[in-house]
Amino acid sequence: MSMLRFSFGTMGSGKSTLALQIHHNMTSRGVPGLLLTKLDRDGAQVTSRLGVSAPAIDIASDFDLFELIKSRMPVQFVVCDEAQFYTPEQCDQLARVVDELSVDVFAFGLITDFRGLLFEGTKRMLELADQRNEMQVEARCWCGERANNNARLVNGRIVYEGETVIVGDTDKVMSEPLFGDEVRYELLCRRHYVAGDIGPSK
Ligand SMILES: [Zn+2]
Repeated sequence: MSMLRFSFGTMGSGKSTLALQIHHNMTSRGVPGLLLTKLDRDGAQVTSRLGVSAPAIDIASDFDLFELIKSRMPVQFVVCDEAQFYTPEQCDQLARVVDELSVDVFAFGLITDFRGLLFEGTKRMLELADQRNEMQVEARCWCGERANNNARLVNGRIVYEGETVIVGDTDKVMSEPLFGDEVRYELLCRRHYVAGDIGPSK
């Protein structure tokens, strides 16, 4: 019985690493499958922060995933990274892939955005999935508490409003300028997220 599995977590919880591992294990056994991503920092590939990567299909918002996967049959599984950025329609298309094409779907996504709200794709995946898995690797705030908030920093200050999709970098060293502003993300516990406190050394 094929299933729609959705694994979610914060940045740094190992989602892309697990996505790559599942894809590797299946393809190394000769099982035909696809690796999809959307708005990955490095384009048409899935990259783990541990340094592993694999080529992937970079899907646009107007891609019909059901038609895409149907055209690639026989496919037995699909691994979807960055599923938080998928449109609700694309999530529904993946559910159809499971039900009508009998393909296993393993989707991975960030749980909440920098405002602390569920991403659109994540919300729909949680509604649809046959199995929901919370990633068990816990990211940590600078104070040592569990970090559940992806704070967005623009020029070093936390912002609580703005566009949902700005792909910056979580790596503190490799922050990148965007429209002249430096945007990066910082994992914080709720207390420090609310207080806007990014720690003593910054
Ligand atoms: Zn903290």
